[in-house]
Amino acid sequence: MFKQSAQHVASYYARTYPGPIPLRPTLAGREETEVLIVGAGFSGLHTALRLALAGKRVCLLEVSRVAWAASGRNGGQALLGWSCDMPPLEKALGLERSRRLWDSMRWAAAELRELPQRHGFEVDYRRGSLWTAVLPRRVRLLQEAQADALAKWGYAALRLIGRDELPEWIASPRYLAALYDPEAAHLNPLKLAQGLAAAIERAGGRIYEQSQVLDYRESAAGYIARTAKGEVRGEVLVLACNAYIDRLDRQLSSRLLPVGSYQVATVPLDPELAHSLLPQDSCVIDNQFVPDYFRLTPDRRLLFGGGCTYLGGIPRDIAAATRPHLERVFPQLRGVELEFAWGGHIDVSLKRTPDIGRQGQRYWLQGFSGHGVLPTLAGARAVSEAILGDDALLALYQAIGNPRFPGGTLLAAPLEAAGKAWYRLRDLI
Ligand SMILES: Cc1cc2nc3c(=O)[nH]c(=O)nc-3n(C[C@H](O)[C@H](O)[C@H](O)COP(=O)(O)OP(=O)(O)OC[C@H]3O[C@@H](n4cnc5c(N)ncnc54)[C@H](O)[C@@H]3O)c2cc1C
Repeated sequence: MFKQSAQHVASYYARTYPGPIPLRPTLAGREETEVLIVGAGFSGLHTALRLALAGKRVCLLEVSRVAWAASGRNGGQALLGWSCDMPPLEKALGLERSRRLWDSMRWAAAELRELPQRHGFEVDYRRGSLWTAVLPRRVRLLQEAQADALAKWGYAALRLIGRDELPEWIASPRYLAALYDPEAAHLNPLKLAQGLAAAIERAGGRIYEQSQVLDYRESAAGYIARTAKGEVRGEVLVLACNAYIDRLDRQLSSRLLPVGSYQVATVPLDPELAHSLLPQDSCVIDNQFVPDYFRLTPDRRLLFGGGCTYLGGIPRDIAAATRPHLERVFPQLRGVELEFAWGGHIDVSLKRTPDIGRQGQRYWLQGFSGHGVLPTLAGARAVSEAILGDDALLALYQAIGNPRFPGGTLLAAPLEAAGKAWYRLRDLI
């Protein structure tokens, strides 16, 4: 369905990566392992690292390059919570069990802060996010989110910033209020993925690039995954393929809709101008149904995403599609040069709830619905702990239940596009 290439897309992250991005071998011949993982994005990498450090033999197969897909191209916003927010999780699990899931999200935020130091790599980590409101009625959503966080999830860190105080945080006329989260962060996702991959290899794990799993089968001796030049047998199989699962596992792909998402990076801005846009260097996402999200990079570019596509993949001219969103937020940047523009795919589940589970010794992580920097780490903990014998966290995810898209892949996209058009209209009113 998607064309994978042996090169990273021309994103800000790939083009400014310090030094050559490591090239890993292609699988040739037969291999045996304890845990066989398909997909080297955050889901597969975090799972592999946790298991390798626990002494398991792991082997990771990647069709393209480590973090070639969403994990190497995203906005780098490490926000607490899932794409669906907490209400659907509370509805599915009840208060006490959804609180345990929330606690694992806080664990993920703390873990991500420490991982680079622990394994000796750099991710340009910066603390703090703003969740902003454009519409008066959605200021109330911020207030409710803050109250719920305290009462239900025991999370007292959020701070509501009113309109008067907003200029100290963001130089935009578009917003009425914001919720500041000091435990959230932003970072360079490609550096994170490459740091994880190197740590896996140091712990004895094997990673093969340009090794697409064409199919897999279950046998008495475990799972056998076949690539063009070889095969790997693993006692345990972990599928971490995101929106690209496609024909490899029809059961999993029937619960996902691949959606195009894209962003731009400006040229480096004048230091004073850059500082004036976001004086506290927080990342920002608004609470519109189709949100704008943005942040500054260490070399003072504005990285900006807004909009998504359902039916035709990614817009041909991403910069032209994104510029009006950017200039609506920051009119002072009208005409600014956009040096990089790139897109990727997100794996939207019907209720935007995470789809993480197990059948026999076959595990999967998907359904992050465009919000996966921290959720993939929380999910990887659940899967790796289950593989090591403790399935308490995984049981929570399995109780959420993720339905198929009605009408299968043919109808899912038009239905989702129609639904989104309705919500976009509501964003405008
Ligand atoms: C433009 C964009 C902006 C985003 N911004 C944010 C953000 O700011 N904050 C946030 O939290 N989330 C964001 N996300 C979402 C986040 O990036 C994802 O949820 C997360 O990276 C998913 O990680 P993953 O490992 O599950 O999937 P991926 O990173 O997509 O990895 C899946 C891997 O599996 C490989 N694969 C697939 N099929 C096979 C096969 N048959 N054989 C071998 N390998 C295979 C793919 O090549 C790919 O490398 C964004 C996503 C996009 C696209």
